[in-house]
Amino acid sequence: MNQFSLPGCLIIEEGACERLNEILADCIPEIEKKKIIIVTEEALIPIMKPYLDEMKRDLPKSELYLVEENSFQEAMELAKHICMEDIEVIIGVGGGKVLDVAKYAGFVGKIPYICVPTTLSNDSLSSPVSVLGTEGDARKTLKCAIPAAIVVDVNVVMGAPLSQLQSGIGDTISKYTALYDWKLDAAYRGERVDDFSYLISDMALSSLCYNEEKSLKSKEFIKILTQSLVLGGLAMEIAGNSRPCSGSEHLFCHSLEENYKEIKISHGMAVALGSLVSCRLQGRDDHLLRSVLVAYGIDLDPMNWGITKEIFTDAWLKAADTRKDRHTVLNEVTLTKEQLGGIYEQLRAGSECSGVFKE
Ligand SMILES: [Zn+2]
Repeated sequence: MNQFSLPGCLIIEEGACERLNEILADCIPEIEKKKIIIVTEEALIPIMKPYLDEMKRDLPKSELYLVEENSFQEAMELAKHICMEDIEVIIGVGGGKVLDVAKYAGFVGKIPYICVPTTLSNDSLSSPVSVLGTEGDARKTLKCAIPAAIVVDVNVVMGAPLSQLQSGIGDTISKYTALYDWKLDAAYRGERVDDFSYLISDMALSSLCYNEEKSLKSKEFIKILTQSLVLGGLAMEIAGNSRPCSGSEHLFCHSLEENYKEIKISHGMAVALGSLVSCRLQGRDDHLLRSVLVAYGIDLDPMNWGITKEIFTDAWLKAADTRKDRHTVLNEVTLTKEQLGGIYEQLRAGSECSGVFKE
């Protein structure tokens, strides 16, 4: 069985940032005596200033570091600083960019990492990987450790842009097709899926799909989405790989990123669109996924994301090649331009009846 760790502390509550120092002291004994680096970004300072000031006051040996880009280079520079200055704890306060850099720098520097997300755009907040930019526009998924603690202030996340929360929903519902692909992969290799990890990822999916709260900006919904994203990350940690959360729908997303860098679509939205297609390729009904996405006002027309029929078709035809070691439904069906063109038209037609929420 894969060796895995779990966060020592998981707090999801209203006003958590107002008592952050108290929570941190519970997670890390004698934290006030330790050298700490608090990692955030310039754009968040106006929103998070009261909490950052309080942390700096109660943690006298702390310093602030502002992330500029989520690159491997920046994470390594931060890791070098951690090692050279004997920093003992890293706290990431922010969205995906900040958290991925802080998580990887903490892993390389071999120090505990505490995650304080300000938004919920994907399941990387608790996952054992960081996605960082490398040469040019290329991004790489790097293995690392999960956070020692996760502290989510529901009130802070409520202030996140709607589109980021919708992206978090997209990343969660993609487990529907990822789990199916994982079973296909296991059958192909003559192996078993990790039952416990499968169950946790399935719980992450179900708790979002079958909840009654359809208002994106309600406290109850933010708690449900946080739990789903955290569970997704933990499923990956337990499996020792990303299979419980990443199947052919993620390959479509990678294909768009690698071949069509000009398309500006979030990870969660790309995998949500991918899931609707993977679902059909898997010979399954996409009604459940579509109803959840529509309920949260998510735009399912690929054209509105700048994805033309040609791009859509080509991205799917190249999807399997983005991770050749992965066996998914894409290895079990023969894709044709005509078939994919037909699915594209159906996606566009089906999205007409949905009410899209935008800020
Ligand atoms: Zn994902």
